[in-house]
Amino acid sequence: MSAPAGEPGAGLEKRLRTYEGRAAAVATVGKDPVNTPMIRHWCEAMGDTSPAYTGPDAVAPPSMLQVWIMGGLSGHEGRTDAYDELLGLLDEAGCTSVVATDCEQEYLRPLRPGDEVTFDTVIETVSARKTTKLGTGYFVTTRTNVRVAGDLVGTHRFRILKYAPARRKPPGKPGARRPRPVVNRDNAGFWEGVADHRLLIQRCTGCGTLRHPWLPGCNACGCPDWDTVEASGEGTVYSYVVMHHPPFPAFDPPYAVGLIELAEGVRMVADVVGVPYDKVRIGLPVRVGFRRYEDDGGVLVLPVFRAGESEA
Ligand code: ZN
Repeated sequence: MSAPAGEPGAGLEKRLRTYEGRAAAVATVGKDPVNTPMIRHWCEAMGDTSPAYTGPDAVAPPSMLQVWIMGGLSGHEGRTDAYDELLGLLDEAGCTSVVATDCEQEYLRPLRPGDEVTFDTVIETVSARKTTKLGTGYFVTTRTNVRVAGDLVGTHRFRILKYAPARRKPPGKPGARRPRPVVNRDNAGFWEGVADHRLLIQRCTGCGTLRHPWLPGCNACGCPDWDTVEASGEGTVYSYVVMHHPPFPAFDPPYAVGLIELAEGVRMVADVVGVPYDKVRIGLPVRVGFRRYEDDGGVLVLPVFRAGESEA
């Protein structure tokens, strides 16, 4: 039986189905017994102040079920070949990406401090081929049975989508239109300075406080009057992020965006250039430069901060 080109055949779906009901992980002992310190930390993190979870008759919050079966950084060892084979088949079919989609739990009886949990996992269902916004693939649902002294106390169903990612738009297309800053009456002077390759800082004429970004009045004294001083252009990286995603047109990730503290004391956000993105560090000395972009929106000049050797 042959399938249309590019479509996985019914043969694949049939093979995937044979994994339903097979073990994904063999019986494993929980890393810790149900215990009051972990219950307390969980309740604090969740802001759950129910009296049921404290005192001599405390039970564990039911939705902590997964806590008692988590492998931590070192993981659990019970995973079976069947589960890896199933994922391998999906990889071969081009479904190389994975996303967790949802989780469902059932609680059969409360867990109490001292309960020693064991658990095993079964591959419950593999869906037919589905197309989602992320791409086309298969939902795989596993069910973990949680037991104490052999009795089932809860189940934890976990669903993933193994999928072939939908084709993405090409990132950083050269010549793509770069977004423009919003220029208004309050900040036009700043952008006029930038177009002229000058970095202007607003200064309150009432109290002398410098400010950036530009504002209609002084936050320190309320005075609406101001003039400007031209920044020396020297600064340091006060903080930064490295942008990886999403890949906007006209941007070419990864790149570093810094919050730059100018020598005059105010801070501004701009790209950090002149060093690889992964060499940017807090405290790195930088100097202002101006980058010119030309695209179908016209000419745009933006301040950037350059690290590395400065010309004395
Ligand atoms: Zn002021």
